[in-house]
Amino acid sequence: MQARPRVLVVGGGISGLVTAYLLSQGPPAQRPRVTLLETADRLGGKIRTIELAGHRVDLGPDAFLARSEPMRRLLAGLGLTGHVVGPATSGAYVYSGGRLRRLPAGMIFGVPERLTPLLRSRLLSPAGTVRAGLDLVLPRTRLPEDPSVGELLRPRFGEQAFDRLVEPLLGGVHAGRADLLSARSTVPEIEALARGNRSIYLALRRARLARERRAGRPLTTAAPTGLVTLDNGLGTLVDALAAHLVQAGVLVRTGVQAVRLERTEEGYRLALSAAGAPVDPVSADAVVLATPAYASAELLSELAPRAAAALREIDYVDVASVVLAYPRAAVTRRLDATGFLVPPGEGQLVVGCSWLTAKWGHLAHGPMILVRAQVGRAGDHRWMAHEDDALIAAVHSEVAPVLGVSCSPELAYVQRWPRALPQYAVGHERRLGQLQAELADLAGVYLTGAGYRGVGLAGCVAQAEQLAALVLGTLHPAPEPPAPEPPAPEPPAPEPPAPDRAREGAPT
Ligand SMILES: Cc1cc2nc3c(=O)[nH]c(=O)nc-3n(C[C@H](O)[C@H](O)[C@H](O)COP(=O)(O)OP(=O)(O)OC[C@H]3O[C@@H](n4cnc5c(N)ncnc54)[C@H](O)[C@@H]3O)c2cc1C
Repeated sequence: MQARPRVLVVGGGISGLVTAYLLSQGPPAQRPRVTLLETADRLGGKIRTIELAGHRVDLGPDAFLARSEPMRRLLAGLGLTGHVVGPATSGAYVYSGGRLRRLPAGMIFGVPERLTPLLRSRLLSPAGTVRAGLDLVLPRTRLPEDPSVGELLRPRFGEQAFDRLVEPLLGGVHAGRADLLSARSTVPEIEALARGNRSIYLALRRARLARERRAGRPLTTAAPTGLVTLDNGLGTLVDALAAHLVQAGVLVRTGVQAVRLERTEEGYRLALSAAGAPVDPVSADAVVLATPAYASAELLSELAPRAAAALREIDYVDVASVVLAYPRAAVTRRLDATGFLVPPGEGQLVVGCSWLTAKWGHLAHGPMILVRAQVGRAGDHRWMAHEDDALIAAVHSEVAPVLGVSCSPELAYVQRWPRALPQYAVGHERRLGQLQAELADLAGVYLTGAGYRGVGLAGCVAQAEQLAALVLGTLHPAPEPPAPEPPAPEPPAPEPPAPDRAREGAPT
């Protein structure tokens, strides 16, 4: 009898946890022996939930896309479907010129799908609105092969719509700048529409009308964003995955850092360290690197230096979450939205602020109003110069006037996330192609995670699901058909999942 193959999964964030979970769920005879290695002393990566002011508050992601099928399958498998809850309110604001203006409904990454809400919001000046409307009449924009979001949208809608709509939304989701991010990798639906049509607005409108025809009813502008969370915080997802891993016999080792991947005659060996000192290496038939691209680069630097170089080109932005709790009576503003976004041109540290108490029903009760600000975006590292206390004071000084608060926060918490959000910069798809080619000779080495084809949780889960199927299929190839002629062609590798660009939940 053959020994069951061994698979190492490096990284205990959502990508590694889900990959390990799915590898351990196959039929018993086909289950590989899985070991998951995580350098931190806890699992979850960017998912972290803490107790604050009597609530369980998320410090990393706090929402995911409800319509994602892989996510639904995962939650069902973990028995968490009954814990999914939608937001208690809808809509968001944009901070512009020192005050909040409603983010018009019907925006897709800052591109208007409807004109009336845009006109009503007064977010754009009359001249800015007229300029945005020129998209209707301008000739088709000539686009480079992989345009930035700026190259795609600025010529169509003008500077003001770009600054007040596109930039804040991209800042909120990617902590990125629109002139650096690849439109194809960041807003692929809009890039595809722009290539096939003259006016992006008209193309979006046609797509909406087609959806309405299929649905047999008008789709309301107040339609929910499709974002949901778990009623006890997203840490529940990590706990459930960890419990299932242990139950399925997966060896989970925290506090162990993977240092270097080497090839052996039988497969691969991973050098490890714990508490800064080398520990016994581990061997396996296959290795899944579910680590950020820069960490995977280090692991591959000797085995595949060119792949490592391509991985190092994927840049990550440092961000921090600052949670502030104010006495309920001290907040004079009616919190009638999920929060607000701040365009970079406003010069604020805060990129976006979620009004947690208004956003999630399970956080609504109690004597405190909780808000969570996100600081940090591409090119803006000012927040990093502050110690925690100074950062809390700086964020409070920006948020308090908006909330109408005159007292200091009663509780505050800072979570720093160094090198947290991958930037799908112009050339991202080309880099991924290059990576794939460089790794072609390393059968049994796989990459997955937010750095590649989906920054959001749903995107990470979709990638992990496809990867687990690929690994299992490779370890247990389908039996050859009895008559071997003509030779059967190799089954194509599954297409990478459509990117989940919508890391909507953050930061409002
Ligand atoms: C502030 C913030 C808010 C966000 N909000 C949302 C949101 O609302 N909705 C949404 O969908 N997404 C959101 N995201 C994005 C999403 O959380 C992340 O993209 C996703 O969690 C990344 O998961 P991952 O497993 O790919 O990577 P990670 O979570 O980074 O996990 C990688 C793991 O690998 C480990 N590791 C690294 N190197 C090694 C090594 N050498 N050996 C062993 N282990 C190693 C790390 O310690 C880490 O645990 C947010 C992100 C941030 C930072």
